[in-house]
Amino acid sequence: MSDLRFELPLPDLAPWRAGNTGVEGVWRFDSGRPGRRVMISALVHGNEICGAWAVAGLLEALTQGRLAPHSGSLCLVLANLEAFDRFDARDHDASRFVDEDLNRQWQDVRMDEGGTRERRRAAALRPFVREADWLLDLHSMHEPSAPLLLTGLQPRNRELARRMGAPAHIVVDAGHKDGTRLRDYGRFSLPDAQAGDSRSLLVECGFHGDPASRDVARDQCLRFLEAAAIFGAAELATALPGWKQADAAEQWALEVTEPVVAKSSGFRFAAPYTGLECFAKAGSVIGDNDGQPVTTPYDDCVLVMPSVRQARAGVTVVRFAKRHALRP
Ligand SMILES: [Zn+2]
Repeated sequence: MSDLRFELPLPDLAPWRAGNTGVEGVWRFDSGRPGRRVMISALVHGNEICGAWAVAGLLEALTQGRLAPHSGSLCLVLANLEAFDRFDARDHDASRFVDEDLNRQWQDVRMDEGGTRERRRAAALRPFVREADWLLDLHSMHEPSAPLLLTGLQPRNRELARRMGAPAHIVVDAGHKDGTRLRDYGRFSLPDAQAGDSRSLLVECGFHGDPASRDVARDQCLRFLEAAAIFGAAELATALPGWKQADAAEQWALEVTEPVVAKSSGFRFAAPYTGLECFAKAGSVIGDNDGQPVTTPYDDCVLVMPSVRQARAGVTVVRFAKRHALRP
């Protein structure tokens, strides 16, 4: 159960459920002309509804003819509808997934194997993901926190984050050892020299139940689509009024160096951290991992997304990062 209030209302996804591709929840809008194939995905985690709001808003604009790509295509994905269907604001973590985390199944061997609803769903989405050049994957967080844009290790994604101009904090990370994320699948994780035009970003828009997370999701979609340039900039601004928020005053790259992995559900932090706390001195104690103190490994160490809500043996509860200014 959550002690945080869930104030963001549920979007009505009934009109958007069927999709127009033959795969539930998957929509594709094709200009009929060559160009960038862009994908925006939401609900990879069933309780992260800010992205579903943004995707529903885009679907409205596209199906009402207020917006149409002038080159390439846009694919919109409502990823884990089965988990979303179980959503209950009083116990929202329970609808994160049905059988297992959909954002750890993006390896062909797991998708081919099937065995869980999430692996079968990943396999159904795979052809669309494979053809995408650019991906923006919309998420939200267990705890109240400033938004974070996760770029992976590839400099091309960091450059795109800088061009987008928000949010303020960019996380440079290698993903998780318990499985591959959507944003790291296939071509997305190749080094820049081999990856052609591919880009992939995952945005964490703030606490799941915070109405502001919806504003962040909309703002990020708009910035991403501006950069992708498959719509006219003026057309985007007119079709999506109020979606653009202020640019970040300054952007920071947080280079993740290592995760802290819980040894059991007994993991505890030393204080109620919410993320982006910076510890000046190496060796500062930040938690207790089954009786063993957890200390910061270097000076000016930043905590990225601390949370014990999903804590059990093998689950990452926080990541350590070094901070650099992100400049042109
Ligand atoms: Zn998520």
